[in-house]
Amino acid sequence: MSDWTSIRYDEPIERVARITLARPEVANAQDYTMLSELNEAFDRAARDPEIRVIVLAADGRHFSSGHDLRAGTSMEEIDPVGTWCHFDAPGAEGYMATEAEMYVGLCWRWRNIPKPTIAQVQGKVIAGGLMLVWPMDLIVCSEDATFSDPVVAFGVNGHEYFTHPYEVGARLAKDMLFTGRAITADEALRHGMVTRVVPSEDLESETLELASHIARRPMIGLTLAKQSVNNTLDAMGMYTAIQSAFGLHHVGHNHNLRLHDSLVDPAGIAVIRSEA
Ligand code: ZN
Repeated sequence: MSDWTSIRYDEPIERVARITLARPEVANAQDYTMLSELNEAFDRAARDPEIRVIVLAADGRHFSSGHDLRAGTSMEEIDPVGTWCHFDAPGAEGYMATEAEMYVGLCWRWRNIPKPTIAQVQGKVIAGGLMLVWPMDLIVCSEDATFSDPVVAFGVNGHEYFTHPYEVGARLAKDMLFTGRAITADEALRHGMVTRVVPSEDLESETLELASHIARRPMIGLTLAKQSVNNTLDAMGMYTAIQSAFGLHHVGHNHNLRLHDSLVDPAGIAVIRSEA
């Protein structure tokens, strides 16, 4: 068994693994330790022949408030799973490698797990929080769930796993990004970002029922269906679009470093707080 501290892992029903974000005291803000543990847990579920469906859930009122910018974790404590390296290199090199490994790389890895994945979402999902929800295949959310990516106020294009146009369509993606506003569960449903909105008290049971239903199908059928849909998204340029946006994201970071000596425009905090 592992000694994970930021997440929990269980098998609540037959053939279903559940990974739960377990830092509710900080609204499940993600530091590198949590991301690394999440990756290990996804690998464990993916490699377990008894598991056919993986649920990603979260403790507390809010699914995730995004990246933990105050976290003290550094890449020295992390075992990279991609091929990026030289994380402490000066200039743009080190930080670009860090985000490529810990953000885009991990999200893309989880997006390609050859088993159905379901996000079980309540409360707020902000910026980096979307980077845990969007790589999942299905999203079940409670009526109180909201989704936002307000980081344009920080002088960057959006969070690092830039699939916004694929998730909500180009028009709503621009609305979300330009205004920083949170879209509601109902809005997410209407735009196809989620497929089920349920009362809060039913969130867990409805998610497990969906997982159980899916898990009655053979692994090979599920894997082939998932791969076929993902291949379609890839044929539409999804991976290339993510990499293109990631390059622009680092134009933003480096612009802010030159002007503000900070990866993000510090004035963004006041803008976001004034609108909360
Ligand atoms: Zn960034």
